[in-house]
Amino acid sequence: MQIKAVAFDVDGTLYPNASMYLRSIPFALRRVRLMWAFAQVRREVRTLRPVDDPGETQARMLAERLGITVECARERIEREIYGLWEEALDRVEPYPYVRECVKELKDSGLAVAVSSDFPVERKLARLSLDGLFECRLWTEESGYLKPHPEPFVMLAECLGLAPQEILYVGNSYDYDVVGAKRAGMHAAHRVRRPPANSIADFSFSDFRELSRWVRSVLV
Ligand SMILES: [Mg+2]
Repeated sequence: MQIKAVAFDVDGTLYPNASMYLRSIPFALRRVRLMWAFAQVRREVRTLRPVDDPGETQARMLAERLGITVECARERIEREIYGLWEEALDRVEPYPYVRECVKELKDSGLAVAVSSDFPVERKLARLSLDGLFECRLWTEESGYLKPHPEPFVMLAECLGLAPQEILYVGNSYDYDVVGAKRAGMHAAHRVRRPPANSIADFSFSDFRELSRWVRSVLV
């Protein structure tokens, strides 16, 4: 396999989503209406084609749903959703062996990257995973969210590689595995029990296995 880079999704891939959801409960309970409306809007934004600016579009849609100004919606998304979610990350640890895995991949001469549908930089810092990745992409900046091909194209451009030289690692079968494969990349699925007939090239739940597998398929 001609892999020259490994790119990771962040939420639920590098750290357990569940432990953060748990920590977010008190904050979410105080904002049930906002969280509910935001979840609906995210679902809708993913289906829109094409969207020039998904960040702006989601602010506009949230404003409509909540009957507030776009300005206020933008500010609530930034402060109450992205900001507080990142704070909830404070006490969340990455999955075991994530740092070791990333370092081993780099030592094998591979480039490493992260891409997420949510802002990346502050999150990596909170997980003490900053400074490791060559490319750190927030898919929203491509104008689309996964599984649209555009964020994967943007990733390949950032790495300066062809899609077939990239292994994409994610926890969502529909967004990460199917999205990456459709864009011509290889895909590894971080999952406890892989779905039947999975199209992932590799499925794992222990990052030591991922590191071993990648190094075994390098040509
Ligand atoms: Mg994820």
